[in-house]
Amino acid sequence: MRSIPSVRGLSPAIALAAVLWSGGAMADQQGPLDARIDAAVNAVEAKVIAWRRDIHQNPELGYQEVRTAKLVADHLTALGYEVKTGVGRTGLVALLRGGKPGPVVALRADMDALPVKEEVDVPFASKVLATWRGQQVPVMHACGHDAHVAILMGVAEVLASMRADLPGTIKLLFQPAEEGSGDGSAGGATSMVRDGAMQDPKPEAVFGLHVSSGLRVGEIALRPAGLMASSDSLRIEIKGSQTHGAMPWGGVDPIVVSAQVVLALQTIASRQIDVTRSPVVVTVGSIHGGNRGNIIPDTVVMEGTIRAHDEDVRNRLHEKIKTVTEGTAHAAGAEAKVTINRGYPVTVNDPPLTAWAGASLRRAAGAERVQESRPVMASEDFSVLAREAPGVFFFLGITPADKRPGALGMGGAAPNHSPRFFIDEAGLKLGVRALSFLTVDYLGRAK
Ligand SMILES: [Zn+2]
Ligand SMILES: [Zn+2]
Repeated sequence: MRSIPSVRGLSPAIALAAVLWSGGAMADQQGPLDARIDAAVNAVEAKVIAWRRDIHQNPELGYQEVRTAKLVADHLTALGYEVKTGVGRTGLVALLRGGKPGPVVALRADMDALPVKEEVDVPFASKVLATWRGQQVPVMHACGHDAHVAILMGVAEVLASMRADLPGTIKLLFQPAEEGSGDGSAGGATSMVRDGAMQDPKPEAVFGLHVSSGLRVGEIALRPAGLMASSDSLRIEIKGSQTHGAMPWGGVDPIVVSAQVVLALQTIASRQIDVTRSPVVVTVGSIHGGNRGNIIPDTVVMEGTIRAHDEDVRNRLHEKIKTVTEGTAHAAGAEAKVTINRGYPVTVNDPPLTAWAGASLRRAAGAERVQESRPVMASEDFSVLAREAPGVFFFLGITPADKRPGALGMGGAAPNHSPRFFIDEAGLKLGVRALSFLTVDYLGRAK
């Protein structure tokens, strides 16, 4: 990270750990433990890559992750974890009770793939078809959740090898349907929380990662507070009055009104929101109205997405969208019905815990390879888990060292969700290492 916030405001135990473990004072004591983790990480790396390829070749859409969940459950059961399946439909929760008393910490991996046709030329490319919203679609792990599952399976093995010496309990959450359910029902994190995944025992912290094409292999990025945006869906129905296309004065044209609404909505982000407080995006992604050129239709329906990085700004944004849309329609004699469905909240990294975690991640990756992330306008339902316990979510680089990271169209590697999204598997090892360091450090922090 470019700058780690001061440790003021931390609980004494965490503050002490942050001070000690960010400097050299603990280096001698940490050395043997780090070496043990490293040996276990090295031993499991080949398996992590093999699991990732297997899962990649057999991707499953949200709430269909039956094969993936079984692969995970069999592995964790063999390692001695207490495994509970069917949590949040296809999710699972696994517990590893360490040999000594201590805190409970949760680690999360999402398991679902996307309706995308793979264009990456690898021998284990997906050829899978599945049903999504009633249609047959190609399926691909285009967001890298195959890597998340494989990494957490590797972490599970590393931690199991140290079980007798671990002070506390590790709770692994293998979550379905991060990309949504496809049928309007709740996403996977919400389903798991409803089924009690964040209770009994209740974790005191939750950690997770996401592979990112925006970073090279070996790099990590995180930021305190808002890391990823809230995501809400927008539906606007403009009701005019149907008439002949040659005589528009005979009715109220909802197409002209919808055009005015689209432009007026853009002035909310540029003119009505304090951009220094939160970036916001209002996108209209579909407009439907009319069926021939010489009839002014009765109604136009538009759909869009709303993103923000701050819950207060998010609420104000919703009000302004309603005001601007209804006012614009009213001025033309039309009526507007605005429906906003709240989706995932802002992914908020607990600031003191993030400051503390930065030290572990710098030790895992090398200080110069951990950077402060920019706010990302994509969303994540890790945010739902981070409402139940203080959370830290970070990005892990998977773009090959000789390629330019970043978004497609800006000259960089293909982004997450692209049919050409590519994972350099050399980056997976740091994921295992980083989550293992974080977990072992967290359990030992109060000693
Ligand atoms: Zn995604
Ligand atoms: Zn994802």
